Amino acid sequence: MNLSRRRFALLSTAAAATLAAPAIVRSAAAQAWNGPRPKNVILMISDGAGYHTWNMASYYEFGELGRQVYDRFPVKTLMTTFPLNTSSKPTNDPTPKVAYDAAAAWSLLPGQGDLGGEITKKKYPNFFAGYEFVKKNYTDSAAAGTALAAGIKTYNNSINFDNNGQPVRMVAEFAKSAGKSTGVVSSVQISHATPASFAAHNISRNNYAEIGREMIEDGLCDVIMGAGHPMFDNDGRYRAPGSDKAFQYVGGPDTYFKAATGRTAYQWIETKADFEKLARGELKLDKAKVLGVAQAHNTLQFNRSGEGMGNLVPNVPDLATMSLGALEVLGKNERGFFLMIEGGAVDWAAHANDTARIIEEQIDFNKAVRAVVAWIERHGGFEHNLLIVTTDHGNGMAYGPQSDRFAFQPVINRGQGQLPEVTWHYDTHTNELVPVWAAGPGAEQLVAASTGEDPHTALVGWGEVRRYHDNTDIARLIIGAVAAEQRASAN
Ligand SMILES: [Zn+2]
Repeated sequence: MNLSRRRFALLSTAAAATLAAPAIVRSAAAQAWNGPRPKNVILMISDGAGYHTWNMASYYEFGELGRQVYDRFPVKTLMTTFPLNTSSKPTNDPTPKVAYDAAAAWSLLPGQGDLGGEITKKKYPNFFAGYEFVKKNYTDSAAAGTALAAGIKTYNNSINFDNNGQPVRMVAEFAKSAGKSTGVVSSVQISHATPASFAAHNISRNNYAEIGREMIEDGLCDVIMGAGHPMFDNDGRYRAPGSDKAFQYVGGPDTYFKAATGRTAYQWIETKADFEKLARGELKLDKAKVLGVAQAHNTLQFNRSGEGMGNLVPNVPDLATMSLGALEVLGKNERGFFLMIEGGAVDWAAHANDTARIIEEQIDFNKAVRAVVAWIERHGGFEHNLLIVTTDHGNGMAYGPQSDRFAFQPVINRGQGQLPEVTWHYDTHTNELVPVWAAGPGAEQLVAASTGEDPHTALVGWGEVRRYHDNTDIARLIIGAVAAEQRASAN
């Protein structure tokens, strides 16, 4: 791939994006903006959703492809997701160590050995060299989140830290500077890597308590919603926290008790009834900011007991309800907002190779997209709202039942309400291209940002879409929109 001009542009943006640099709003992204500006920007991330995760859910939901609300969006592109390097800490070396190579990613030559076993403890043979390529050099959700939020490539584990160990400015901060509101919503813990990337800075995603504390006590975001409740288990049952660790996702015991007793800038909500009232605009708010921690410890639904679909935890809201609640709060700002909504447990189900529950989680995400589109249609439509639907990376390599012999055989549709036929080839992230759908002012800039073409995407049903841009281009687009708004309002 062409690393030269592209990467230099990237690195200069990275350099410009340090917190100390006052010239940040005059970044390349801001200068590139022309045409109508969106008042509101919503980024929806189905975490770890490779090509076939989207297809599996559509087969189960509709019995066919092409029926999702985002299938009607005017912009469909593909995106690279690889990090700067695969180190777990800063290396101080600006040289990109990994990349995407379309020829290697689809190679039909025999693969070597096996990989995997991170979660499932299984070994996954590399039946083809293409499988082997995409199983290596993948991003984690932190580096991917930082790319999407701050527009820089960095090391895995980084929450808005560059590869020199310095914090970088990201979209929520730009939005605040422009007078906009910001929020994060997730189906996993509020301080997990993806929501953290749009709300905090930390040298490592694993410092949950520090991240939770920054999110809640510094209060950059106006809305924070997700799981991570210290007093409830994964089945939504009240339990006594065993140790301080039970409080880590909400910033530790002190931050939790402050938050839950109304001694932070946020109105604390946790019951399903309150989330639903908020979504309907019927919850009386004493504060302008809302912190909603659903009554479940790790995930809204995925980590509950039992197997397969159904028997949902009854006392937690779904992602659509949370999203509408967030929009209800953020939509009050006449200068607009930026909101990130994550279907976070899609990734967890992919790690577990759990076909039934990944479909359940992806359908929950799809419902949230429909709810958001309906809200947009009631609030200025796509003339005033930019919506981007994507993922941060692939995970699990779900392909068809004979994909050990027939390279890249698609997942097989068995009709509406039936689990498709799937073989999983991995239990962690991949370095494959991922889909992006976008609608609203500026959406076409993602197509314009394309730097490469993948001639093989027909193998996974994306034959009409071959061009790809980088995950950092999403941040450039959003930060560009927000910064352009700030310049316009200053004039
Ligand atoms: Zn992820």
